[in-house]
Amino acid sequence: MAEFDTDLFVIGGGSGGVRAARIAATHGARVMIAEEYRMGGTCVIRGCVPKKLMVYASHFHQEFEDAAGFGWTVPEPTFDWSTLIANKDREIARLEAAYTTNVEKSGAKVVKARAVLEDAHTIRLSTGEKIRANYVLIATGGAPNHGTAIPGIEHVISSNEVFHLPSLPRRILIQGGGYIALEFACIFAGLGSDVTVVYRGENILRGFDEDVRAHVRSEMEKEGITILTGCTVTKVDKHAHDFTSHLSSGSSIASDKVMFAIGRHPNVAGLGLDKAGVAINEKNGGIAVDPFSKTSAPNIYAIGDVTHRINLTPVAIREGHAFADTVFGNREVRVDHADIPTAVFCQPEVGTVGLTENQAREKFTHVDIYKATFRPMKATLSGRDTRMLMKLVVDGATDRVVGCHIVGDGAAEMVQVLGIAVKMKATKADFDATMALHPTAAEELVTMRTPSARHVRAAAE
Ligand code: FAD
Ligand code: NDP
Repeated sequence: MAEFDTDLFVIGGGSGGVRAARIAATHGARVMIAEEYRMGGTCVIRGCVPKKLMVYASHFHQEFEDAAGFGWTVPEPTFDWSTLIANKDREIARLEAAYTTNVEKSGAKVVKARAVLEDAHTIRLSTGEKIRANYVLIATGGAPNHGTAIPGIEHVISSNEVFHLPSLPRRILIQGGGYIALEFACIFAGLGSDVTVVYRGENILRGFDEDVRAHVRSEMEKEGITILTGCTVTKVDKHAHDFTSHLSSGSSIASDKVMFAIGRHPNVAGLGLDKAGVAINEKNGGIAVDPFSKTSAPNIYAIGDVTHRINLTPVAIREGHAFADTVFGNREVRVDHADIPTAVFCQPEVGTVGLTENQAREKFTHVDIYKATFRPMKATLSGRDTRMLMKLVVDGATDRVVGCHIVGDGAAEMVQVLGIAVKMKATKADFDATMALHPTAAEELVTMRTPSARHVRAAAE
């Protein structure tokens, strides 16, 4: 070990890197962790956390409206964007400091610099310093895609900039039909902007259950969001005070901001991967890793978004923890990437775990679907035109619940807990045996008795 300055050098102080550094240090390793921007990474600085704070802010709009049916008179509410941004920034700064403190408390050393590889054991810092490390962990995350360069792309913002707009745009056009596009469409609509979503495919949320996709779209449209499908933005013109986005359909839309949320790519550029013998996964552009997150270089591991497996914070954290346990904790741990619960924090919220109906039908010969759409109790007095969707996908041969899909208030919270049941291989009979908790929306999950559809594939198919 003496020939090395440190046992482990972590590149990237985001969700995965920080967890790996702390756990490795706790196992007794000498650890250094480099961060070129702000400790906490995407999730804390410009992802999950500031986004969720803005989601909360956007919900008040409906709450104020709904209050009237329950007897409240709410004076015309006003919203101040700069207060929200300042308060959000204060909380993010607090979390950033807490991340640094917690890493340092574990014994790891934080280096505020960009780090790149010179060879498999040598890291060069932007300060000019060179560090020799026995193991290296690459946890550099990802960055927003801009797509193919179109005229006016320089006027388009991404999720990086959206957290620091000087004012609330009166009108915003958002291209994309995935997590970020829909979450921000609903945030801005809730805060009072006029929102247009432009999506290239047939319907938003590709990859999600078809019923979820249709339900979310109709609910968002009911809330006044315009969703244009089957087209893309081909050009953006800047005027003195606003922009015109030209669409492939031939029409054009005026707005005060144009945002693209069209996916993210792994942060691998300029890292010196070739010099260190670290191969790229040709299929997804991320760093290629084995089930223990080991790269093609035996002493170099990679975790989180830079591997482009499942780009979620808890996954990056788990992978970081598993790496530290495997390499420094004398305990081989591989992360199970199956049945990961996930939510889209649009309004209404989506929560989902396990297989979609179509995925289950491909995998199993007999699939039962239990589905309910209903008006949530709160909407009876508020008068809001909204419906909730609950759907269970069951493998008919084993009775196992292999997929749960919810759209409506509390969907994310419900699906986190349902994830345990799915992971434990709970059967529909287990759901039926669970007493309902009344009055809740979630009780629907244990009271759906009759399949709404049954798909049995003939043996020859
Ligand atoms: P990151 O958190 O991206 O950390 C990588 C770090 O490495 C960064 O801080 C970067 O500055 C640093 N870095 C890069 N290169 C170098 C270098 N050469 N030297 C030094 N430092 C370097 N996930 C959820 O689970 N739930 C959500 O609600 C959610 N919301 C999101 C909302 C948005 C707008 C976005 C963009 C993402 C969201 N995500 C969400 C995804 C989540 O943020 C990521 O999956 C997670 O942050 C990945 O963690 P990571 O450690 O792999 O990388
Ligand atoms: P997504 O992959 O969720 O969505 C990207 C969207 O952009 C899709 O609708 C895609 O269409 C579309 N698209 C891709 N390329 C183009 C293009 N060239 N032109 C036009 N449209 C295009 O990515 P996001 O950027 O929304 O988010 C990145 C990732 O961050 C997510 O996948 C998720 O892992 C994570 N995240 C998680 C959140 C959460 O947990 N709540 C919240 C935010 C982000 P198509 O479907 O046709 O490919």
